[in-house]
Amino acid sequence: MARLTDAARTIFGLALGVALPQLCAACREPVEGAGLCAACWSKLSFIAPPYCERLGIPFPFDPGPGILSMEAIADPPAYGRARAAVRFDETARVLVHALKYGDRLDLAPIMGRWMANAGRELTREADLMVPVPLHWRRQWARRFNQSALLAEVVAKANGLRVSYGALKRVKATAQQVGLARSERALNVQGAFGVPAHARAKVAGRRLVLVDDVLTSGATLEACTRALLRAGAAGVDVLVFARVVAPARVPI
Ligand SMILES: [Zn+2]
Repeated sequence: MARLTDAARTIFGLALGVALPQLCAACREPVEGAGLCAACWSKLSFIAPPYCERLGIPFPFDPGPGILSMEAIADPPAYGRARAAVRFDETARVLVHALKYGDRLDLAPIMGRWMANAGRELTREADLMVPVPLHWRRQWARRFNQSALLAEVVAKANGLRVSYGALKRVKATAQQVGLARSERALNVQGAFGVPAHARAKVAGRRLVLVDDVLTSGATLEACTRALLRAGAAGVDVLVFARVVAPARVPI
């Protein structure tokens, strides 16, 4: 049973006239309600302060308010602040994949709620949310954009709007997976743009850019630059999971 997709399970359940229990998105054990079982939930590593004010990378101890990480000082991003709900680890990876490949669209409300919590400081000051777009060909094949689903949940929780057309992927790019950091930056260079008709929507606005995962940050960096070029007043970044190398606190 665990091998059936959720759509197949629903149809199968209807045919038998019974409601089959939901399965945990990570380990596929039956679970009460939706989402994750208690064991997998406890394995998720939620990101909480103290963290770098700029990058949201957790500090091993509290260095005091407003302290930036070495990473933020040495290599400041184009975006203002980044926040993530959880660290990208094995459990987070399973959730991201389950959502991305359409197996578990029911996860979007849960993951989005965690993101809304993590991104409170950002959404409080934001005018508009912008999901990282897929190239139309990829979106057509997949039928939906997981970042847009997450942005929708966060926006709804904060009474904000989502702009789907503000950012366009103008160049189809190779998947970032398997590329080195420098290759990732090159791969997405010039890949995003703000269409002429969307410039008025972006100009002078404070935006929260939404994606499912932050790895090297190259995609979010390229998107931010495109939005700033179009006159955005500021761009912050909110993701479900981010890769976290141990943060270095300036001495
Ligand atoms: Zn589980």
